[in-house]
Amino acid sequence: MWQKQIHRLAKTGRSVLEILYPGLCLACGQTLLFQSTLRFPICTSCQNALLPITGHRRCAICSIPLISELERCSRCSKRDFAFESNFSVYEYRGPIRQVISQFKFSNRRSLARFIAYVLEPELAGRFRGMPIVPIPGSRRSVRRRGWDPMLEVARVLKRDAGIPALPRLVRRSGGAQKGLAYRARLENIRGTVELGRGVRQLPHRVVLIDDIFTTGATADECARVLRRGGVKKVFVLTLAVDM
Ligand SMILES: [Zn+2]
Ligand SMILES: [Zn+2]
Repeated sequence: MWQKQIHRLAKTGRSVLEILYPGLCLACGQTLLFQSTLRFPICTSCQNALLPITGHRRCAICSIPLISELERCSRCSKRDFAFESNFSVYEYRGPIRQVISQFKFSNRRSLARFIAYVLEPELAGRFRGMPIVPIPGSRRSVRRRGWDPMLEVARVLKRDAGIPALPRLVRRSGGAQKGLAYRARLENIRGTVELGRGVRQLPHRVVLIDDIFTTGATADECARVLRRGGVKKVFVLTLAVDM
């Protein structure tokens, strides 16, 4: 109701809105205008600067755009992942980088709605009917932050879009993954992920969701655990791919 009121007021002028709705663009910091909504807390110019991965030629495994005719990028052609493929909506550059950093490192929990809003059409389209499994944050980071970023996104997707979520993985604290190369990440995370308590039967196909796809090591370990638990095919959907 109040949202409707704000939109009505918005038509009367920007200054009134800015008093009532003092949000800032989470990518560049400028005051949000009425074009932006709670679900889209970034300004119009930052929205225009987002870099969705377009075109059909993507690496079949990690989702990065390809120039060559090959099916896999050079990185993925050397690796064998436990998941089928990753699909990313954006390149991890520009405003989306800021948004993810605000979400995870500046504790902007409300950004879960934005991330859910971006992932939802992909879940409804290419992953229709599959339950989602959020890639869990490490126990240490969840304790420090007080909440688990992707679990939060999964909750929004369940509440607002009715997408079934299985928050069924837990992750012990290994060393930080950031800055490590693939092999080191893989060794770091090996054995730290397990199925949550009380998990009986898992579906045949699930979608792991995460914010960034970097080397694929975390997704690989999660997929391995799910497959050991009986899942046949694990897909990965991420907001952005770091190339
Ligand atoms: Zn902006
Ligand atoms: Zn690739």
